[in-house]
Amino acid sequence: PSALREVLVQVPDVGWDDIGGLDDAKQELQEAVEWPLKYPETFQRLGVRPPKGTLLYGIPGTGKTLLAKAVAHESEANFISVKGPELLSKWVGESEKGVREVFRKAKQTAPTVIFFDEIDSIASTRSGNDGDSGVTKRVVNQLLTEMDGLEELEDVAIIAATNRPDIIDPGLMRPGRFDRHIKVDTPSEEARLAIFEVHTKGMPLASDVNLKKLAKSTDGYVGADIEAVCREAAMLTLRNNLEASEIPNEYFKEAIEKIKPANKADEQLVQ
Ligand code: ATP
Repeated sequence: PSALREVLVQVPDVGWDDIGGLDDAKQELQEAVEWPLKYPETFQRLGVRPPKGTLLYGIPGTGKTLLAKAVAHESEANFISVKGPELLSKWVGESEKGVREVFRKAKQTAPTVIFFDEIDSIASTRSGNDGDSGVTKRVVNQLLTEMDGLEELEDVAIIAATNRPDIIDPGLMRPGRFDRHIKVDTPSEEARLAIFEVHTKGMPLASDVNLKKLAKSTDGYVGADIEAVCREAAMLTLRNNLEASEIPNEYFKEAIEKIKPANKADEQLVQ
């Protein structure tokens, strides 16, 4: 079991160029995470305090995890990813120890970005009330203690992500905690074009494929949906002809028919 509970340190290989659109979010992450990790002396010299924690929020599949990995990569930092629910399941009865272990490992391998995905699952105003014997509250308290204990410029940056910013425990958002909030938008037509470009970069496209038109016809699709469309177009091509050497437009159209946006318009993010 001890091997199971090992905190995994990764070195992500995705960079800014692998993310379509989200220019504002990239810029904000650069300032909040990349620059403090890369140029700590400058921040010190100018007396600017970098934010300790950054919260990314947006509907599923918009690229929050991708952004966190990319900023770690661009900062030449290590990356530790922890899913909220995993802290409870993987460290049953020892969830606080899990949190301590994550921070210990991060300091040991610094510069490091710690990414808490699905943070709402442990830090929502609704958790900690019923049936979980207060474990989520204790986990959140441990997280806050660890964040408070981080020296400035300790080379550890903390990013959390959620689809439900409306239910996050306000205690987590106070100054010195997750006090920088970055919205990860549902992509515009222009951003969808950029995402199509990212996901077709390695694909031989037939001359009738017009990515601009595809971007136009995919209103409501997020990055994860567009990635699925591109993969499906390639699969349809090879299912039809194993000798095929390029992907024709008809299969992109068919893929768009088949793959509908995972997030329905009526469950847009509450802000
Ligand atoms: P969740 O809330 O479900 O965890 P998320 O916002 O973290 O979603 P990601 O896991 O980053 O979304 O995205 C899933 C996949 O979708 C990515 O691995 C990537 O391939 C694709 N994707 C999402 N957004 C973008 C984007 N802006 N540019 C390129 N690819 C994207």
